Amino acid sequence: MRTFVHREQVTKVVFGSGTRSRIPEEADALGCRRVLVLCTPAQVDQAARIRDLLGAAAVGVFAEAAAHTPVAVTEKAVAYAATVRADSVLAVGGGSTIGLGKAIAVRTGLPQLALPTTYAGSEMTPILGETEGRRKTTRRLAEALLDTVVYDVDLTLTLPVATSVVSGINAMAHAVEALYAQDRDPVAFLMAGEAIDSLTRSLPVITRRPDDREARADALYGAWLAGTCLGAVGMALHHKVCHVLGGTFGLPHAETHSVVLPHVVAYNGPAAPEAVARMAQALPGDDPASGLFDFAGRLGAPRALRDLGMPESGITQAAELIVRDGYWNPRPVDRTAVRAFLTRAWAGEAPW
Ligand code: NAD
Repeated sequence: MRTFVHREQVTKVVFGSGTRSRIPEEADALGCRRVLVLCTPAQVDQAARIRDLLGAAAVGVFAEAAAHTPVAVTEKAVAYAATVRADSVLAVGGGSTIGLGKAIAVRTGLPQLALPTTYAGSEMTPILGETEGRRKTTRRLAEALLDTVVYDVDLTLTLPVATSVVSGINAMAHAVEALYAQDRDPVAFLMAGEAIDSLTRSLPVITRRPDDREARADALYGAWLAGTCLGAVGMALHHKVCHVLGGTFGLPHAETHSVVLPHVVAYNGPAAPEAVARMAQALPGDDPASGLFDFAGRLGAPRALRDLGMPESGITQAAELIVRDGYWNPRPVDRTAVRAFLTRAWAGEAPW
Protein backbone atom coordinates (compact mmCIF):
# COMPACT_ATOMS: atom_id res chain seq x y z
CA MET A 1 0.00 0.00 0.00
CA ARG A 2 1.22 3.53 -0.76
CA THR A 3 2.12 5.86 2.10
CA PHE A 4 3.22 9.40 1.50
CA VAL A 5 3.22 12.99 2.70
CA HIS A 6 2.42 15.70 0.16
CA ARG A 7 2.67 19.46 0.64
CA GLU A 8 1.22 22.04 -1.76
CA GLN A 9 3.38 24.88 -3.06
CA VAL A 10 2.39 28.36 -1.93
CA THR A 11 4.15 30.19 -4.77
CA LYS A 12 1.87 31.74 -7.40
CA VAL A 13 3.00 30.76 -10.91
CA VAL A 14 2.13 32.58 -14.13
CA PHE A 15 3.34 30.85 -17.31
CA GLY A 16 3.25 31.89 -20.95
CA SER A 17 4.64 34.17 -23.62
CA GLY A 18 4.62 37.94 -23.10
CA THR A 19 3.68 37.37 -19.45
CA ARG A 20 6.28 39.90 -18.27
CA SER A 21 3.64 42.52 -19.04
CA ARG A 22 1.80 41.15 -15.98
CA ILE A 23 4.65 42.05 -13.64
CA PRO A 24 3.13 45.42 -12.60
CA GLU A 25 -0.19 43.82 -11.63
CA GLU A 26 1.50 40.89 -9.89
CA ALA A 27 3.65 43.30 -7.87
CA ASP A 28 0.57 45.36 -7.08
CA ALA A 29 -1.33 42.25 -5.98
CA LEU A 30 1.39 41.68 -3.37
CA GLY A 31 1.08 45.30 -2.23
CA CYS A 32 4.53 46.17 -3.63
CA ARG A 33 4.97 49.83 -4.54
CA ARG A 34 8.80 50.11 -4.47
CA VAL A 35 10.30 47.15 -6.33
CA LEU A 36 14.07 46.65 -6.51
CA VAL A 37 15.01 44.75 -9.69
CA LEU A 38 17.94 42.31 -9.41
CA CYS A 39 20.16 40.89 -12.17
CA THR A 40 23.71 39.89 -13.08
CA PRO A 41 25.93 42.39 -14.92
CA ALA A 42 25.29 40.37 -18.12
CA GLN A 43 21.52 40.90 -17.96
CA VAL A 44 21.37 44.57 -17.09
CA ASP A 45 19.60 45.53 -20.34
CA GLN A 46 16.92 42.88 -19.88
CA ALA A 47 16.44 44.01 -16.26
CA ALA A 48 16.25 47.69 -17.28
CA ARG A 49 13.38 46.85 -19.66
CA ILE A 50 11.51 45.20 -16.78
CA ARG A 51 12.20 48.23 -14.57
CA ASP A 52 10.70 50.41 -17.32
CA LEU A 53 7.61 48.18 -17.38
CA LEU A 54 7.17 48.80 -13.66
CA GLY A 55 7.51 52.57 -14.13
CA ALA A 56 7.07 54.46 -10.86
CA ALA A 57 6.74 51.16 -8.95
CA ALA A 58 10.46 50.43 -9.54
CA VAL A 59 13.08 52.03 -7.31
CA GLY A 60 16.19 50.78 -9.09
CA VAL A 61 18.27 47.94 -10.52
CA PHE A 62 20.92 46.15 -8.50
CA ALA A 63 23.06 44.44 -11.14
CA GLU A 64 25.69 42.60 -9.11
CA ALA A 65 24.19 39.13 -8.66
CA ALA A 66 26.96 36.51 -8.85
CA ALA A 67 27.31 32.72 -8.91
CA HIS A 68 26.88 30.88 -5.59
CA THR A 69 25.32 33.92 -3.84
CA PRO A 70 28.33 35.46 -2.06
CA VAL A 71 27.31 36.92 1.31
CA ALA A 72 29.31 40.11 0.61
CA VAL A 73 27.13 40.84 -2.45
CA THR A 74 23.97 40.14 -0.45
CA GLU A 75 25.04 42.57 2.27
CA LYS A 76 25.68 45.27 -0.32
CA ALA A 77 22.28 44.58 -1.90
CA VAL A 78 20.49 44.70 1.48
CA ALA A 79 22.13 48.09 2.19
CA TYR A 80 21.12 49.35 -1.26
CA ALA A 81 17.54 48.12 -0.76
CA ALA A 82 17.38 50.10 2.49
CA THR A 83 18.80 53.24 0.82
CA VAL A 84 16.16 53.21 -1.90
CA ARG A 85 13.47 52.08 0.60
CA ALA A 86 12.58 49.00 -1.47
CA ASP A 87 9.50 47.13 -0.28
CA SER A 88 10.12 44.07 -2.48
CA VAL A 89 12.61 42.42 -4.84
CA LEU A 90 12.18 41.11 -8.38
CA ALA A 91 14.88 38.77 -9.70
CA VAL A 92 15.32 38.84 -13.47
CA GLY A 93 17.67 36.00 -14.33
CA GLY A 94 18.85 32.51 -13.50
CA GLY A 95 19.69 30.72 -10.27
CA SER A 96 22.37 33.24 -9.30
CA THR A 97 20.00 36.21 -9.40
CA ILE A 98 17.13 34.30 -7.80
CA GLY A 99 19.56 33.20 -5.07
CA LEU A 100 20.33 36.85 -4.35
CA GLY A 101 16.60 37.63 -4.11
CA LYS A 102 16.13 34.80 -1.60
CA ALA A 103 19.14 35.91 0.44
CA ILE A 104 17.73 39.45 0.65
CA ALA A 105 14.24 38.19 1.53
CA VAL A 106 15.57 35.93 4.30
CA ARG A 107 17.40 38.90 5.87
CA THR A 108 14.71 41.54 5.41
CA GLY A 109 11.37 39.75 5.10
CA LEU A 110 10.69 41.57 1.81
CA PRO A 111 8.28 39.85 -0.59
CA GLN A 112 9.92 38.45 -3.71
CA LEU A 113 9.00 37.89 -7.32
CA ALA A 114 11.03 36.38 -10.16
CA LEU A 115 11.19 36.26 -13.93
CA PRO A 116 13.38 33.17 -14.43
CA THR A 117 15.55 33.14 -17.55
CA THR A 118 17.29 29.74 -17.23
CA TYR A 119 16.11 26.21 -16.41
CA ALA A 120 17.83 25.92 -12.98
CA GLY A 121 14.53 25.90 -11.06
CA SER A 122 15.65 27.77 -7.94
CA GLU A 123 12.52 29.96 -8.09
CA MET A 124 10.36 27.02 -7.01
CA THR A 125 12.37 25.97 -3.96
CA PRO A 126 12.82 27.11 -0.36
CA ILE A 127 16.53 26.28 -0.70
CA LEU A 128 19.08 29.03 -0.15
CA GLY A 129 22.70 28.31 -1.03
CA GLU A 130 25.25 30.95 0.01
CA THR A 131 29.02 31.27 -0.01
CA GLU A 132 31.31 33.02 2.40
CA GLY A 133 34.95 32.74 1.41
CA ARG A 134 35.23 29.23 -0.03
CA ARG A 135 32.51 27.78 2.21
CA LYS A 136 29.11 27.07 0.67
CA THR A 137 26.16 26.38 2.94
CA THR A 138 22.69 25.30 1.89
CA ARG A 139 19.55 25.74 3.98
CA ARG A 140 15.84 25.09 3.50
CA LEU A 141 13.92 28.11 4.83
CA ALA A 142 10.23 28.93 4.47
CA GLU A 143 11.28 32.62 4.22
CA ALA A 144 13.23 31.84 1.03
CA LEU A 145 10.10 30.75 -0.88
CA LEU A 146 9.05 33.18 -3.58
CA ASP A 147 5.64 34.82 -3.55
CA THR A 148 5.17 35.04 -7.31
CA VAL A 149 7.02 33.53 -10.28
CA VAL A 150 6.25 34.79 -13.77
CA TYR A 151 7.63 32.52 -16.48
CA ASP A 152 7.90 34.36 -19.78
CA VAL A 153 9.25 32.11 -22.49
CA ASP A 154 10.33 35.18 -24.51
CA LEU A 155 13.03 35.96 -21.93
CA THR A 156 14.64 32.55 -22.47
CA LEU A 157 15.14 33.04 -26.21
CA THR A 158 18.45 34.82 -25.57
CA LEU A 159 19.86 32.00 -23.41
CA PRO A 160 22.84 30.74 -25.45
CA VAL A 161 22.48 27.18 -26.79
CA ALA A 162 25.37 25.78 -24.72
CA THR A 163 23.93 27.26 -21.51
CA SER A 164 20.43 26.11 -22.45
CA VAL A 165 21.64 22.51 -22.80
CA VAL A 166 23.50 22.29 -19.49
CA SER A 167 20.81 24.26 -17.67
CA GLY A 168 18.20 21.85 -19.09
CA ILE A 169 20.22 18.83 -17.93
CA ASN A 170 20.57 20.52 -14.52
CA ALA A 171 16.74 20.57 -14.42
CA MET A 172 16.62 16.91 -15.48
CA ALA A 173 18.87 16.09 -12.52
CA HIS A 174 16.27 17.49 -10.09
CA ALA A 175 13.59 15.37 -11.73
CA VAL A 176 15.74 12.22 -11.79
CA GLU A 177 16.49 12.43 -8.07
CA ALA A 178 12.81 13.16 -7.34
CA LEU A 179 11.91 9.83 -8.99
CA TYR A 180 13.83 7.93 -6.31
CA ALA A 181 13.67 10.40 -3.39
CA GLN A 182 13.25 8.93 0.07
CA ASP A 183 10.20 11.14 0.65
CA ARG A 184 8.94 10.94 -2.93
CA ASP A 185 5.23 11.42 -3.32
CA PRO A 186 3.00 10.46 -6.23
CA VAL A 187 2.58 14.06 -7.40
CA ALA A 188 6.33 14.70 -7.44
CA PHE A 189 6.83 11.39 -9.30
CA LEU A 190 4.34 12.44 -11.98
CA MET A 191 5.86 15.90 -12.29
CA ALA A 192 9.37 14.48 -12.49
CA GLY A 193 8.43 12.09 -15.31
CA GLU A 194 6.72 14.88 -17.23
CA ALA A 195 9.75 17.14 -16.71
CA ILE A 196 12.11 14.51 -18.14
CA ASP A 197 9.78 13.96 -21.11
CA SER A 198 9.55 17.65 -21.95
CA LEU A 199 13.28 18.35 -21.55
CA THR A 200 14.42 15.34 -23.61
CA ARG A 201 11.91 16.43 -26.28
CA SER A 202 12.75 20.14 -26.35
CA LEU A 203 16.52 20.45 -25.81
CA PRO A 204 17.49 18.80 -29.14
CA VAL A 205 15.14 21.20 -30.97
CA ILE A 206 16.65 24.19 -29.13
CA THR A 207 20.17 23.21 -30.24
CA ARG A 208 18.99 23.34 -33.87
CA ARG A 209 16.61 26.30 -33.56
CA PRO A 210 17.35 28.39 -30.44
CA ASP A 211 14.47 30.76 -31.24
CA ASP A 212 11.85 28.02 -31.56
CA ARG A 213 9.26 29.39 -29.15
CA GLU A 214 7.35 26.10 -28.78
CA ALA A 215 10.50 24.18 -27.87
CA ARG A 216 11.55 26.96 -25.50
CA ALA A 217 8.12 26.84 -23.84
CA ASP A 218 8.37 23.05 -23.51
CA ALA A 219 11.82 23.33 -21.88
CA LEU A 220 10.68 26.07 -19.51
CA TYR A 221 7.63 24.00 -18.57
CA GLY A 222 9.96 21.07 -17.80
CA ALA A 223 12.19 23.38 -15.77
CA TRP A 224 9.22 24.59 -13.73
CA LEU A 225 8.17 21.01 -13.00
CA ALA A 226 11.72 19.95 -12.16
CA GLY A 227 12.22 22.96 -9.89
CA THR A 228 8.97 22.14 -8.12
CA CYS A 229 10.26 18.59 -7.55
CA LEU A 230 13.51 19.98 -6.14
CA GLY A 231 11.51 22.11 -3.71
CA ALA A 232 9.11 19.33 -2.77
CA VAL A 233 11.28 16.30 -2.02
CA GLY A 234 14.80 15.58 -0.81
CA MET A 235 17.67 15.08 -3.22
CA ALA A 236 20.37 12.41 -2.91
CA LEU A 237 23.84 11.39 -4.16
CA HIS A 238 23.81 13.36 -7.42
CA HIS A 239 23.18 16.71 -5.72
CA LYS A 240 25.73 15.86 -3.03
CA VAL A 241 28.40 15.11 -5.66
CA CYS A 242 27.70 18.37 -7.52
CA HIS A 243 27.68 20.37 -4.29
CA VAL A 244 31.08 18.97 -3.29
CA LEU A 245 32.63 19.45 -6.75
CA GLY A 246 31.25 22.97 -7.14
CA GLY A 247 32.28 24.03 -3.64
CA THR A 248 35.71 22.38 -3.52
CA PHE A 249 36.99 23.03 -7.03
CA GLY A 250 34.86 26.01 -8.11
CA LEU A 251 33.39 24.03 -11.02
CA PRO A 252 30.51 25.66 -12.95
CA HIS A 253 27.10 24.63 -11.60
CA ALA A 254 25.02 23.44 -14.55
CA GLU A 255 27.96 21.94 -16.47
CA THR A 256 28.92 19.86 -13.42
CA HIS A 257 25.34 18.50 -13.17
CA SER A 258 25.51 17.64 -16.83
CA VAL A 259 28.71 15.59 -16.51
CA VAL A 260 27.82 13.82 -13.26
CA LEU A 261 24.19 12.80 -13.87
CA PRO A 262 24.74 9.71 -16.10
CA HIS A 263 27.29 8.32 -13.63
CA VAL A 264 25.00 8.67 -10.61
CA VAL A 265 22.10 7.17 -12.57
CA ALA A 266 24.33 4.18 -13.39
CA TYR A 267 25.28 3.84 -9.72
CA ASN A 268 21.77 4.27 -8.27
CA GLY A 269 19.90 2.46 -11.05
CA PRO A 270 20.03 -1.06 -9.55
CA ALA A 271 18.47 0.27 -6.32
CA ALA A 272 15.79 2.38 -8.07
CA PRO A 273 13.97 0.19 -10.61
CA GLU A 274 10.80 2.34 -10.79
CA ALA A 275 12.88 5.46 -11.50
CA VAL A 276 14.86 3.60 -14.17
CA ALA A 277 11.65 2.40 -15.82
CA ARG A 278 10.23 5.95 -15.89
CA MET A 279 13.43 7.44 -17.29
CA ALA A 280 13.56 4.73 -19.96
CA GLN A 281 10.22 6.00 -21.30
CA ALA A 282 11.93 9.26 -22.30
CA LEU A 283 15.46 8.15 -23.16
CA PRO A 284 16.21 5.73 -26.00
CA GLY A 285 17.53 2.24 -25.11
CA ASP A 286 16.84 0.31 -21.92
CA ASP A 287 19.70 1.84 -19.97
CA PRO A 288 18.95 5.46 -18.99
CA ALA A 289 22.51 6.06 -17.75
CA SER A 290 23.93 5.41 -21.24
CA GLY A 291 20.91 7.21 -22.69
CA LEU A 292 21.76 10.34 -20.67
CA PHE A 293 25.45 10.13 -21.55
CA ASP A 294 24.63 9.86 -25.27
CA PHE A 295 21.98 12.60 -24.98
CA ALA A 296 24.53 15.01 -23.43
CA GLY A 297 27.07 14.09 -26.13
CA ARG A 298 24.61 14.63 -28.98
CA LEU A 299 23.71 18.07 -27.61
CA GLY A 300 27.35 19.09 -27.24
CA ALA A 301 27.31 19.25 -23.42
CA PRO A 302 30.59 18.72 -21.59
CA ARG A 303 31.08 15.11 -20.45
CA ALA A 304 34.41 15.29 -18.62
CA LEU A 305 35.15 16.93 -15.27
CA ARG A 306 38.70 17.60 -16.43
CA ASP A 307 37.27 19.87 -19.15
CA LEU A 308 35.56 21.90 -16.40
CA GLY A 309 38.87 22.49 -14.60
CA MET A 310 38.87 19.73 -11.99
CA PRO A 311 42.38 18.46 -11.17
CA GLU A 312 42.82 14.66 -11.34
CA SER A 313 44.48 14.85 -7.93
CA GLY A 314 41.16 16.05 -6.50
CA ILE A 315 39.29 12.78 -7.13
CA THR A 316 40.29 11.13 -3.85
CA GLN A 317 39.50 14.23 -1.79
CA ALA A 318 36.12 14.61 -3.52
CA ALA A 319 35.21 10.94 -2.89
CA GLU A 320 36.14 11.43 0.76
CA LEU A 321 33.89 14.49 1.11
CA ILE A 322 31.01 12.82 -0.78
CA VAL A 323 30.86 9.83 1.58
CA ARG A 324 31.56 11.81 4.76
CA ASP A 325 28.21 13.26 5.85
CA GLY A 326 25.29 10.95 6.37
CA TYR A 327 22.48 11.53 3.85
CA TRP A 328 19.90 9.31 2.26
CA ASN A 329 20.53 7.61 -1.07
CA PRO A 330 18.67 4.66 -2.62
CA ARG A 331 21.95 2.72 -2.70
CA PRO A 332 24.46 2.91 0.16
CA VAL A 333 27.24 5.31 -0.78
CA ASP A 334 30.49 3.40 -1.08
CA ARG A 335 33.82 5.26 -1.21
CA THR A 336 35.49 2.89 -3.69
CA ALA A 337 32.52 3.00 -6.05
CA VAL A 338 32.28 6.81 -5.83
CA ARG A 339 35.98 7.09 -6.57
CA ALA A 340 35.55 4.78 -9.56
CA PHE A 341 32.67 6.73 -11.10
CA LEU A 342 34.38 10.07 -10.41
CA THR A 343 37.44 8.77 -12.25
CA ARG A 344 35.30 7.90 -15.26
CA ALA A 345 33.47 11.23 -15.07
CA TRP A 346 36.76 13.07 -14.80
CA ALA A 347 38.07 11.40 -17.98
CA GLY A 348 34.79 11.73 -19.88
CA GLU A 349 34.24 7.97 -20.14
CA ALA A 350 30.80 6.39 -20.43
CA PRO A 351 29.13 5.24 -17.20
CA TRP A 352 28.82 1.58 -16.22
P1 NAD B 1 23.21 31.79 -13.63
O1 NAD B 1 22.04 32.38 -12.99
O2 NAD B 1 24.54 31.99 -12.97
O3 NAD B 1 23.28 32.27 -15.14
C1 NAD B 1 24.40 31.94 -15.94
C2 NAD B 1 24.74 33.10 -16.86
O4 NAD B 1 23.76 33.18 -17.89
C3 NAD B 1 24.74 34.46 -16.15
O5 NAD B 1 25.76 35.26 -16.65
C4 NAD B 1 23.39 35.04 -16.56
O6 NAD B 1 23.36 36.44 -16.53
C5 NAD B 1 23.23 34.49 -17.96
N1 NAD B 1 21.84 34.37 -18.38
C6 NAD B 1 20.83 33.84 -17.67
N2 NAD B 1 19.70 33.85 -18.39
C7 NAD B 1 20.01 34.39 -19.59
C8 NAD B 1 19.25 34.66 -20.76
N3 NAD B 1 17.97 34.30 -20.87
N4 NAD B 1 19.87 35.24 -21.79
C9 NAD B 1 21.20 35.54 -21.73
N5 NAD B 1 21.97 35.30 -20.63
C10 NAD B 1 21.38 34.73 -19.59
O7 NAD B 1 23.08 30.20 -13.82
P2 NAD B 1 22.00 29.14 -13.34
O8 NAD B 1 22.51 27.83 -13.81
O9 NAD B 1 20.62 29.55 -13.71
O10 NAD B 1 22.07 29.20 -11.77
C11 NAD B 1 23.16 28.65 -11.05
C12 NAD B 1 23.10 29.06 -9.60
O11 NAD B 1 21.81 28.78 -9.08
C13 NAD B 1 24.08 28.30 -8.73
O12 NAD B 1 24.63 29.18 -7.78
C14 NAD B 1 23.22 27.26 -8.06
O13 NAD B 1 23.75 26.84 -6.82
C15 NAD B 1 21.92 27.99 -7.92
N6 NAD B 1 20.73 27.10 -7.86
C16 NAD B 1 20.03 27.13 -6.72
C17 NAD B 1 18.91 26.34 -6.61
C18 NAD B 1 18.10 26.40 -5.35
O14 NAD B 1 17.03 25.79 -5.27
N7 NAD B 1 18.55 27.11 -4.35
C19 NAD B 1 18.49 25.54 -7.68
C20 NAD B 1 19.24 25.54 -8.84
C21 NAD B 1 20.37 26.35 -8.93
